[in-house]
Amino acid sequence: MKYYSLHHKSPISTFKNAVVQGLAKDRGIYFPDNITKLSNHFIKNISDYTNHEIAYEVIKQFVGDEIPAEKLKEIIAKTVSFDFPVVKVDDNIASLELFHGPTMAFKDVGAKFMAQCLEYFNKDNDDEVTVLVATSGDTGGAVANGFLGAKGVNVVILYPSGKVSDIQEKQLTTLGQNITALEVDGVFDDCQEMVKTAFLDEDITKTLTSANSINIARWLPQMFYFFFAYKELHKSHKDLIFSVPSGNFGNICAGVMAQKLGLPIKHFVASTNINDTVPNYLMSGIYKPKPSKATISNAMDVGNPSNFIRIQELFSNDIDTLKSAFSSYRFTDDETRATMTKIYNNSRYVADPHGAVGYLGLKKHGLKENEFGVFLETAHPVKFKDVVEETLPVNVEIPEQIKKVINNTKVAIKASTYQDLKAYLMK
Ligand SMILES: *Cc1c(COP(=O)(O)O)cnc(C)c1O
Repeated sequence: MKYYSLHHKSPISTFKNAVVQGLAKDRGIYFPDNITKLSNHFIKNISDYTNHEIAYEVIKQFVGDEIPAEKLKEIIAKTVSFDFPVVKVDDNIASLELFHGPTMAFKDVGAKFMAQCLEYFNKDNDDEVTVLVATSGDTGGAVANGFLGAKGVNVVILYPSGKVSDIQEKQLTTLGQNITALEVDGVFDDCQEMVKTAFLDEDITKTLTSANSINIARWLPQMFYFFFAYKELHKSHKDLIFSVPSGNFGNICAGVMAQKLGLPIKHFVASTNINDTVPNYLMSGIYKPKPSKATISNAMDVGNPSNFIRIQELFSNDIDTLKSAFSSYRFTDDETRATMTKIYNNSRYVADPHGAVGYLGLKKHGLKENEFGVFLETAHPVKFKDVVEETLPVNVEIPEQIKKVINNTKVAIKASTYQDLKAYLMK
């Protein structure tokens, strides 16, 4: 499979090159040159396939012959190593739980898949590659865990000081080995900007790559669970509407790709917190990035979502076509808390703030008689324990995988400007 840069000023790329580079030389993000629909037979008979088989069918055209089939299947087996339950919370709404992986966030899927692709591509290479990643919360932990111990790969994670939860911070600062955390005095967008600057800095001779959802190997495997949910729900013969709590818009963009591959999804709702660049765009037609603001759903505190340009490409850069299949709404922290309470009172389901924003999107959009709504529950409530316990009359039990890191000692290097990052990378 070939990939082109969405800035259209870099040469066409292989899968391998796009994974290893992350961002094209013209600073554009990569997009597949050609998307082939899966067969109707496959979609109709999806229940006959295991999740591993589904994932293989979904991803194989995007990898092509650059990873042998057997190796790709092995990578999938290590990536899809946990369940993706669909849990009903209302008559016509269910939560797609994406948090049963090692760091309890959906990003485990993309991080593990990417780590293994990179390790495979780098296996015959003496040079180490450095993965640089900016996180607003969950990416850091998932990447740290996914890449821990990967041969020939060093990982540097930048996170905004004081703006991630305690558990998230522990998950990305305590693993050691090939993982280093940089604690940045700023917001997520500052971290992201520093990463982007490093990629263009010719003084840095190390091979750098990104592990944000701009990397195709993190983005594309996120299609898998839209198919898994369809497998669970298609027998009801309802029209499916997915609401995705969105920050950088990589997750929802993977959903739109799944639809492009022929998965019958009627409509998408991109639900955001008050970082509402996309909802504003859909209303006004003007795309105006803004600095991000801190909220209780902090993994979505993104003022300039890097994947939105891919969504526009998927809808031929036509806002009217986009609006016919894609809506976006924004919600305040007060609305989010009230909804966590409402969901809990209705069904005793404990939603984290991100999931609650997703649920709100479905309610705002409205569901017709033959429609069924699915919101993506992107993180386990324990990752936002403080907010959840302040809002709901519950004590969130700490699961085993979290207990393992919570008592470890944080190790992070302070960074306040790009020069600090550069100094570290030039060491
Ligand atoms: C990263 C993250 C999101 C946002 O996902 P995007 O792909 O960036 O839109 C939502 N919820 C949680 C818990 C996350 O970690």
